[in-house]
Amino acid sequence: MSLTDLIKTYEDLRRKIKALNYALWMISWDTETEVPSGALAYRSKQVGILSEELYKLTTSEEMIKVVKELYDRKDELDEVLAREIYLAEKRIEKQLKIPMEEYVEYQMLIAQTQSIWADAKRQNNYELFKPSLEKIVELTKKRIKYLETDELKGYDVLLDEFEEGMTSVKYDHFFNTLKKDLVPFVMEVINKKQKTFAFDKLNYPIDLQKQFVSYLMDVLGYDQKHGLIKESEHPCTSNVSSTDVRITNHYYEDNFTSGIFSAIHEMGHALYEQQVDPALDDTMLAGGASMALHESQSRFYENIIGRSYAFWQAHYPKLQATFKDQLKEVTLDQFYQYINNSYASYIRTDADELTYSLHIMIRYEIEKDLMEERITVDELPQVWNSLTEKYLGIVPRNDQEGILQDVHWSAGLFGYFPTYALGSAYSAQIYEAMKRDLDIEKELLNGTTLAINKWLQEKIHRYGQSKAPIEIFESAVNAKFDASYFVTYLKDKYQNLK
Ligand code: ZN
Repeated sequence: MSLTDLIKTYEDLRRKIKALNYALWMISWDTETEVPSGALAYRSKQVGILSEELYKLTTSEEMIKVVKELYDRKDELDEVLAREIYLAEKRIEKQLKIPMEEYVEYQMLIAQTQSIWADAKRQNNYELFKPSLEKIVELTKKRIKYLETDELKGYDVLLDEFEEGMTSVKYDHFFNTLKKDLVPFVMEVINKKQKTFAFDKLNYPIDLQKQFVSYLMDVLGYDQKHGLIKESEHPCTSNVSSTDVRITNHYYEDNFTSGIFSAIHEMGHALYEQQVDPALDDTMLAGGASMALHESQSRFYENIIGRSYAFWQAHYPKLQATFKDQLKEVTLDQFYQYINNSYASYIRTDADELTYSLHIMIRYEIEKDLMEERITVDELPQVWNSLTEKYLGIVPRNDQEGILQDVHWSAGLFGYFPTYALGSAYSAQIYEAMKRDLDIEKELLNGTTLAINKWLQEKIHRYGQSKAPIEIFESAVNAKFDASYFVTYLKDKYQNLK
């Protein structure tokens, strides 16, 4: 086949895949936000059929053949298509290495384990979850064996799945920096006398919270012509193209900042997706480049911008006017102290900016030791508790607060956690690079983030997945990744808050 015909065949297949993806996405959005409960059974039949079609299409002989042929001629392709084919070939190679029966066995195990984990967590009983987790770990180790290459061995196989190019050597270096330079400082901060804030337990009507969040979304430049905001139990961002990027949020009457910061976090993810070059929408390279880069954007907006003093100098008057009775006596300084209050917490998702990465470090050490067979599934609750004591100075009182708190391992997601911490660290280095070009404080005092958004679009967002994530990051900050920026940023900020 001529190159032009090959490309055309590939593009025809891709168009169908994109359309099926779109339909499945739309259905899953509806399921997440507003499907009537009586509609679910009939729906799942339709989803099953569409998913099967999608699976057939992506794994068809025709698809494999055309990708392999294009891969052999990748030097003749333009840069973007070459990257797309490189990624497609990598995916296909993986698919072919794992025997079909074992793939199905693994998928079924994962599907069953979700509810077993949920039950175990509800009943606060690790023993209920342990046999399934043992099975998942065993199959994951088997999967690693199938997928090992000359460059990637053991746990590194999993790390690379979630963050292309990251290895345990690189993560070790990162976490060792935190261990050495951050942990002693965190201990100092969280051991001081805890502040209390009388206004945090007042009632904050949800419709007023929504009004304020909607105001903030406009301020931050989230484009509501190409997206919308709904509610769900767990806030998330959802899209398959840059033209329609939706977010969900969750509000609590007795915790009014939770909804504000989860909205800003999701907005960070959404803005990234909205600012990807629309020319990539028809390719398989639409969307953010990696987990860590994505998280760097959400945390940049949530923490570095959203929890900064300058940001609230501009927007606190509006918040105060929204909650006239509750915040009447509360000064900007008190509010700033409150949103940056740091303390040791048991639950990762409740953790503040300063302690969050240490929760991730615990999970990273456990995963690595588990995959490299230095600890067993049996020992996990004890290992978890002793690491929590070591890095956060507290011991979980039960499994709910400890080993059972996260859904990830029950879904077979090993190697995912460290991207969260890497994203936070990326965001601090991006902030430093941005400061060379922009007077960020001045922008924030003016009340908008448009110049900031534009900088990120130029340096990071527009590339989508058309380049390797580490390449995008390094060229944006014009340097190699260096965890000391993150440590310095946190120390500077929390030193002044003490
Ligand atoms: Zn996120």
